[in-house]
Amino acid sequence: MSRDNIALPKPLNLIGGNWVPATSGDEMDVRSPIDGEVFSAIAASQADDVDAAVKAARTAFDEGDWGRLTAAERGRLMQKFSLRILEEAEPLAQLESRDNGKPIKQARADMAACARYFEYYGGAADKVHGEVIPFMAGYNVQVVREPYGVIACIIPWNYPAQMFGRALAPALAMGNATVLKPAEDACLACLRLAELAGEVGFPLGAINVVTGRGDVAGKALSEHPGVDFIAFTGSPEVGQMIQIAAAKNYIACTLELGGKSPQIVFDDADIDAALPFLVGGIITNGGQTCSAGSRILIQDGVYDKVITALKERFEALEASESGEDAELGPLISAKQKMRVDAYIDGADAPLIARGKVRDGVPGGGYYVAPALFGPVDPHSKIGQEEVFGPVLCAMKFKDEADAIRIANDTEYGLMASVWTRDGGRQHRVAKALRGGQVYINGFGAGGGIELPFGGVRKSGHGREKGFAALLEFSQIKTIINKHD
Ligand code: NAD
Repeated sequence: MSRDNIALPKPLNLIGGNWVPATSGDEMDVRSPIDGEVFSAIAASQADDVDAAVKAARTAFDEGDWGRLTAAERGRLMQKFSLRILEEAEPLAQLESRDNGKPIKQARADMAACARYFEYYGGAADKVHGEVIPFMAGYNVQVVREPYGVIACIIPWNYPAQMFGRALAPALAMGNATVLKPAEDACLACLRLAELAGEVGFPLGAINVVTGRGDVAGKALSEHPGVDFIAFTGSPEVGQMIQIAAAKNYIACTLELGGKSPQIVFDDADIDAALPFLVGGIITNGGQTCSAGSRILIQDGVYDKVITALKERFEALEASESGEDAELGPLISAKQKMRVDAYIDGADAPLIARGKVRDGVPGGGYYVAPALFGPVDPHSKIGQEEVFGPVLCAMKFKDEADAIRIANDTEYGLMASVWTRDGGRQHRVAKALRGGQVYINGFGAGGGIELPFGGVRKSGHGREKGFAALLEFSQIKTIINKHD
């Protein structure tokens, strides 16, 4: 199967079970990052389309078949959907790779992760129990967990299919109806996934999808008074707007924003074991990963050894057309390429190594050769800001206290790792690091669907993935029954 001959979704929204064009009739071009060519289109939705989607979700929740399903029935449906995603994984992966530019192997892994979200949360749907609280004589007190109602899911372009699963699966498992606003830069796989959900029998209006510009459709969704909760993944700048919009409607939200995640390598680390993770942490998805390991903190004693090995590895890296042998594809857009190029060209740190762009890649594609800088001043622009591209910053530290100070000294706090053989240090450092996930002698867990994930401060708040997401996407009600 080739990515050039797979069927493309039509430029339509999914509203209340119907595939419809934007009411304005407007569409937006879709370009492939691989060659920069327009190959498809999506609906350019506006506030009235969003309004229709929110109303459809509300109807599904309040009066539709969706709201009447038992938890076990929702779970069964979600597991059926998971199997259907696996059946369609190859065409979905080809579509995702063409739309987003990611190497086909990563797109395949993303489909497996998307299916796993529906399997995991489908299995959990009927296992979220309430509790009974012992109270005064003559009272029976139950605490029940309920869905919010309509959840708006606004997701970014870097992992469209994974984000589809990560946001929708726990929301649906708890019985919420959803309105998804995928990113305009890559959303075709989300449209196809929504189509598959209809095929396996999701009731009308349980999943609605509106495509279009963030500052138009996304903004209208985040401000809509019919939305009960917002799950947002994207940039800190937009995350702040989402939180303000949520506050104006007195609702809660989760924000999964960016990061400047550190990997800390101590003198006693198993460097051979660490190297693939130090490189993989920044080149996976072209570095366009919120939890990219974009800072490597290396202890004095092994700095030269680690840098020599990283230099060799970086010089051999090659950005290419996302085929079977690709480690690294193009970046998502011309805008993203310009942003990453500007960070590389303007870096206030010595360049240690630069990879290549493979000869013969299409001239219109958004390819960037990976770059390794070091030693980087932790307070410099490139040492502090999220680049969201294949750019790795190496920094030196003296001792444990120094490592913790540098690691925590950014506005972000999402993920971190510590490489050391010293058991006491593993736990001391893991406890001291700011962020939602810390790895010891590892980095990343291939989607890690079961593992709660999220950030602090500029990386956001709330936890997705794992059982924690079921608690985020639901609320408790205390029922106090006074009896004779
Ligand atoms: P973005 O914030 O521009 O867009 C994210 C989503 O928000 C898109 O669907 C977009 O259309 C929508 N949007 C844009 N403006 C909006 C507005 N005014 N109101 C409502 N919605 C709006 O981010 P991006 O460029 O798609 O993604 C890159 C950023 O996202 C990076 O900073 C990255 O670190 C972060 N990110 C974080 C995670 C995470 O899990 N923490 C995952 C992926 C990406």
